[in-house]
Amino acid sequence: MKQKAIVIGAGIVGLATARALSLKGFDVTVIEKTARAVGASVRNFGMVWPIGQPAGELHSRAERSKAIWKDIADSTGLPYKESGSVHTAYYKDEWVVLQELYELFKAEGRAVELLDQKGVQKKSGAVNPNNLIGGLYSASEMIVDPRIAIATIAAYLTEFLDVTFIWGKAVSAVEANRVYDGSAWIEADLIFICSGSDFETLFPALFAGIEITKCKLQMMRFKSNIPDYDLGASLCGGLSLIHYHSFKAAPSLKALAQRYENEMAEYLRYGIHVMVSQHHSGELTVGDSHEYGLTHDPFNREAINELILQYLRQFAQISDWKLIQSWNGVYPKMTNGSSHLFLQPSDHVYILNGLGGAGMTLSFGLAEECVQQI
Ligand SMILES: Cc1cc2nc3c(=O)[nH]c(=O)nc-3n(C[C@H](O)[C@H](O)[C@H](O)COP(=O)(O)OP(=O)(O)OC[C@H]3O[C@@H](n4cnc5c(N)ncnc54)[C@H](O)[C@@H]3O)c2cc1C
Repeated sequence: MKQKAIVIGAGIVGLATARALSLKGFDVTVIEKTARAVGASVRNFGMVWPIGQPAGELHSRAERSKAIWKDIADSTGLPYKESGSVHTAYYKDEWVVLQELYELFKAEGRAVELLDQKGVQKKSGAVNPNNLIGGLYSASEMIVDPRIAIATIAAYLTEFLDVTFIWGKAVSAVEANRVYDGSAWIEADLIFICSGSDFETLFPALFAGIEITKCKLQMMRFKSNIPDYDLGASLCGGLSLIHYHSFKAAPSLKALAQRYENEMAEYLRYGIHVMVSQHHSGELTVGDSHEYGLTHDPFNREAINELILQYLRQFAQISDWKLIQSWNGVYPKMTNGSSHLFLQPSDHVYILNGLGGAGMTLSFGLAEECVQQI
């Protein structure tokens, strides 16, 4: 008889864990407190983003995750776009950093190209040519629409891997070999807690001592008035260069970060860097800001959206874009520099959480590695 596993939480981390456990031979049940996933996993850009991960373990994990995304998408018909990404340079110091990154990434064997102004325009007709120096193109980045993707993965796990889902039940207690879902105790040989930003409800005393916080991000969705509008590659402005770990390898990044600190203090105050991705529906997701703390004001700041739009106009031509939605999302983020939190608070019980802004990029690979370890 198969051993039983329970996964708490049906965000991307819980789904990736359910997949890995099922492939390992467990009979898996996922328990999710809401009627459908509405957490960080459906509020993000849908960027599967290897370029943001430093060489070695994290970059390999991102590539492995991307391969799993493609497998699932090919099995289910989930639309995805291998858009690639372009980081744009409008200032000389940004261009220097992109040149350095190009050399480093090329040496690592990544699929990158250094593009002049015309080259960037070929990758994306939406790019603003005014003052554009050039860009770094990477072919590896992929876009899904998270609002469809997360529901599709749950359906895939049910259909292909016999995973059972219990929706609309909050787990309020976890003991070795059983969880309480509000109406009954459910037994299992193994329990994985993947509760995302609601990390303190279960094992509160443990979390009080863990270096973890919550990050609130503001996002917007647009639609172009032009029929069949094609963004081309996903676009990023210079500020993204100080956001992703993989870019820290560029020797001139510190000087660039210093200039941003001097000239763009308001952007740095709210952790703003600006990217745009396009989904199969044609809609465009734009973000984001990063505000850290354990408790967040639930309301969006209009000033942040204004700053994001102002910066977006520097590198994208958006006059035909219409704002159709804005929202915010919250993810848990380790404050000690770790890429995630994986620990065993008691026998048979594991916690997998804290993937920060890279859950869509890393969860599938990470879950496989964690399940392999147990
Ligand atoms: C605005 C935004 C943009 C982002 N962009 C990207 C991106 O482009 N690329 C990328 O790689 N990453 C991105 N991220 C990060 C990524 O979305 C997160 O890392 C990831 O979604 C975290 O997944 P999760 O499963 O841990 O959390 P969640 O998606 O929040 O899922 C946790 C689930 O657990 C459930 N739960 C909690 N407690 C219980 C309980 N007691 N009982 C039952 N269920 C429970 C919750 O209801 C929830 O559904 C972004 C995040 C945000 C917010």
